[in-house]
Amino acid sequence: MFGKRQEQDLDKAQQVMIENQLKARGIKDERLLQIMGQLPRHLFVPPDQHNLAYSDKPLPIGRQQTISQPYIVAHMTELLNLPADGDATVLEVGTGSGYQAAILSQLVKQVYTIERIPSLAENARQVFEQLEITNIKQTVTDGGYGWSAHAPFDRIIVTAGAPSVPPPLIDQLADEGILVAPIGGWSNQQLVLLTRQGESIQHKNLTSVLFVPLLGEHGWQE
Ligand code: SAM
Repeated sequence: MFGKRQEQDLDKAQQVMIENQLKARGIKDERLLQIMGQLPRHLFVPPDQHNLAYSDKPLPIGRQQTISQPYIVAHMTELLNLPADGDATVLEVGTGSGYQAAILSQLVKQVYTIERIPSLAENARQVFEQLEITNIKQTVTDGGYGWSAHAPFDRIIVTAGAPSVPPPLIDQLADEGILVAPIGGWSNQQLVLLTRQGESIQHKNLTSVLFVPLLGEHGWQE
């Protein structure tokens, strides 16, 4: 599919991404850096974006949606503070290209991911198959409701911006669980970190970010 020269250019761009975008900005998790240094991000973007796949920005993936900037993917993954034993289950809301889910799949036992646009979910499914990733379960529906059949989840990551954290997601977070989500207005949000200890929920506001909107009952109106 790719010529040797193009493969070499992509490899080089991927290593530059690791050094200049991730390590230089403080991403330290060695397992994560290794995974992002190997996972072919270019397979998750449309062919006309291949040469930009490792650039320092989000990219269009069709249907007015985006694959997030590599640094944001790495930062949100680090915030999840995934247990080193690899035994966690994670729910992702907003499959998009499937890139974030694919990274998580290398770090945990099982990933559940929800997307509302069927064609994006199908594209992601094909890339998972091509990469022989077998621990991602997908569904197409409004992810604001979570996925109660598989709850509770040790970690929940929302990759679309919502006005507030959807209550069903808080309900589906396991004890000692962590949820990361961009929360705020339509055109800018803050990353929010929720941690659950029994019935007590701690809430921390972190960095400013810009995500496409979470649409639906617990997000924005279409
Ligand atoms: N995590 C993705 C990746 O790795 O490519 C990027 C996600 S993109 C920034 C946000 C995604 O959330 C879009 O694909 C969008 O269709 C999806 N989305 C928006 N509202 C949703 C909802 N209520 N339920 C599920 N997915 C939703």
